Amino acid sequence: MEQLMRNFFLFLANNKKLTKAAKRYGLRFGARRFVAGETIAEAVEVIRKLNAEGFSVTIDHLGEFVDTEKEANEMADHCIEAIHAISDHGLDSQLSLKLTSMGMDISDDLVFRNMRRVLDTAKERGVFVTIDMEDSGRCQKTLDIFTELKKEYDNVGTVIQAYLYRSLDDLDALNAYSPNLRLVKGAYKEPETVAFPNKRDVDENYKKMIKKHLMNGNYTAIATHDDAIIEYTKNLVKELNIPKDQFEFQMLYGIRPERQKEIVKEGYKMRIYVPYGSDWYGYFMRRLAERPANVAFVLKGIFGK
Ligand SMILES: Cc1cc2nc3c(=O)[nH]c(=O)nc-3n(C[C@H](O)[C@H](O)[C@H](O)COP(=O)(O)OP(=O)(O)OC[C@H]3O[C@@H](n4cnc5c(N)ncnc54)[C@H](O)[C@@H]3O)c2cc1C
Repeated sequence: MEQLMRNFFLFLANNKKLTKAAKRYGLRFGARRFVAGETIAEAVEVIRKLNAEGFSVTIDHLGEFVDTEKEANEMADHCIEAIHAISDHGLDSQLSLKLTSMGMDISDDLVFRNMRRVLDTAKERGVFVTIDMEDSGRCQKTLDIFTELKKEYDNVGTVIQAYLYRSLDDLDALNAYSPNLRLVKGAYKEPETVAFPNKRDVDENYKKMIKKHLMNGNYTAIATHDDAIIEYTKNLVKELNIPKDQFEFQMLYGIRPERQKEIVKEGYKMRIYVPYGSDWYGYFMRRLAERPANVAFVLKGIFGK
């Protein structure tokens, strides 16, 4: 049943007509729990509150189905607007983006042009940019673009997914760049040919990756809501004497907010991934797919308490 629900929400997430309709009807249906708003001004207010509560942030301007050069350029413009807002308002926030939204599927020239525009502004304003990782078919290309950019920019990092068989090797290959990486379990529907089908194997691989990246002396963001992984990391950093400024935890906006607060209270750095933008629908459906229990929050949003 759970798998059925998951597939259903992933199907809805990829539906272009529904995405259009959602844009028209605004942030309803409980999405506001997971999305900061439709505009950068709304996102700034959310970040301000999170910063006041002791959280760092990374913001993400949501965008799905970028099919044309014009759309990719507009997405890059939104990123630049967000960087200006972070710096003008003195916010403790980084930026996250997806290479497909910068034009990766359209042309190499376009994606590099947009990434350099974003990274130049980010560098000037002292903002760090993380390239989110998408589906496995785009993994190698994302890493190739990342390593090219890393030769020119210090303020860029990316993401490695524990569900892929290749990921420990990727950490070895990337180590030469001393990269600041976000480590995650992985959010896409992947075939067994490339990804561990069982959760237990994903979790074991995740632990190995955390240990490897920390022991290599690299900055590590552990982006998970999983208490077992968080406990593992806490024990590991104690055992290995890893300083607190070499790692951080990350969680998504609206997911386990009480746990997020506890981790800050315990003295760890916690960064919240805050998505915003009118194109919120696909992101929202993927969060529901991850945990159909969240549907309860949505129903409350529609029908009241
Ligand atoms: C900051 C951040 C950035 C990310 N960036 C990427 C990326 O670039 N590429 C990518 O592929 N994936 C990314 N992800 C998603 C990630 O890969 C996982 O899909 C997602 O985090 C769920 O896995 P988990 O580690 O929380 O563990 P899970 O095993 O899925 O969950 C562990 C526990 O956390 C709680 N939980 C998990 N999800 C939810 C939820 N939606 N609602 C309520 N409770 C929940 C539940 O209690 C669950 O039992 C990111 C995640 C975070 C937190």
